[in-house]
Amino acid sequence: MYDIRVTPVPAYKDKPQDESKLGFGRRFTDYMFVMEYNRKDGWCNARVQPYEKFQMDPACMVLHYGQSVFEGMKCYRRKDGGLQLFRPRDNFARMNRSADRLAIPMFDEEMAMAGLVKLLEIEKDWVPHSEGTSLYIRPTIIATDPFLGVHPSNTYLFYIILCPVGAYYAHGLAPVGIYVEDQYVRAVRGGFGFTKTAGNYAASLKASVVAEEKGYDQVLWLDGVEQKYVEEVGSMNIMFKIGGKLITPALNGSILGGITRDSILKMARHMGLEVEERKIAIDEVFDAAANGTLEEAFGTGTAAVVSPVGELCKDGQVITINGGKIGPVAQAMYDQLTGIQYGRLEDPFGWIVKLS
Ligand SMILES: *Cc1c(COP(=O)(O)O)cnc(C)c1O
Repeated sequence: MYDIRVTPVPAYKDKPQDESKLGFGRRFTDYMFVMEYNRKDGWCNARVQPYEKFQMDPACMVLHYGQSVFEGMKCYRRKDGGLQLFRPRDNFARMNRSADRLAIPMFDEEMAMAGLVKLLEIEKDWVPHSEGTSLYIRPTIIATDPFLGVHPSNTYLFYIILCPVGAYYAHGLAPVGIYVEDQYVRAVRGGFGFTKTAGNYAASLKASVVAEEKGYDQVLWLDGVEQKYVEEVGSMNIMFKIGGKLITPALNGSILGGITRDSILKMARHMGLEVEERKIAIDEVFDAAANGTLEEAFGTGTAAVVSPVGELCKDGQVITINGGKIGPVAQAMYDQLTGIQYGRLEDPFGWIVKLS
């Protein structure tokens, strides 16, 4: 249905031998999917081609004004050797919502799916086999006009690159320490906090350096208006279990709507757990810790799936959650979701797209 050319690579790279040393985001496969946009033809020239460097004009708009969006998802290998994706169409739909906010022309999501499937058919041997490993998928769009005026670009490049990634947790789900950021903010009302765009991450770097210097793993962002309400953590959404209920900030425009977040909320409701999506003040979390009703806290995202929070620090005040250990809900969500993603458990939600 979609015409996707394939240009073969002249030589294959060596595939990683030791899957325990894969790490994250450092090695890339032999091929990438690329398509281009111009005003006359729209999105065009879809192809799978060798992974290679781009030639860029120094005036290229993405380099100056950050007009770009990206996505992150994974291809999983089942025990029987077959491959599968988890909710990939939700990633492309979110990418189009991000694109629209950044004044980037939207693309045909089925075209992107076809490109991804073709790329994965060719690169299937790059999907690692060991427990907890996967092939990370990074779709990206960048503005390519060589032009210094502040205006949406007339030309764009859409590409998908792949990298084999290691098990996030080599030694069980280790809880992290989180620093509640009360000086810098990540996103504001009416801005583009809900999009995956480069600028959001640029805005976050300084605070994460400061948090690391203080001995914390990540930053918990508060809202950009009053710095009172919890938003999210680094590149994860955040959930709390307070008084038996699973509570997470409602999607208000400044929070990224995580697919892991949505999946865990659906699984929680399916398991009969009471779920609340609403504003949650950081004081409510600290009060709950003080009165003994804060049972668990964990981040959710594609990379880690679930990341238990063992400690929260705000203004020099430190609370320890569930004795600094992973709680039963975080563990159950992790087991269930990774079970579905790797094909160990049945998928009652229709989330899996099997490739082979
Ligand atoms: C990607 C991302 C998430 C998590 O989204 P998933 O779809 O679950 O991977 C959360 N917050 C931010 C800022 C992100 O970039």
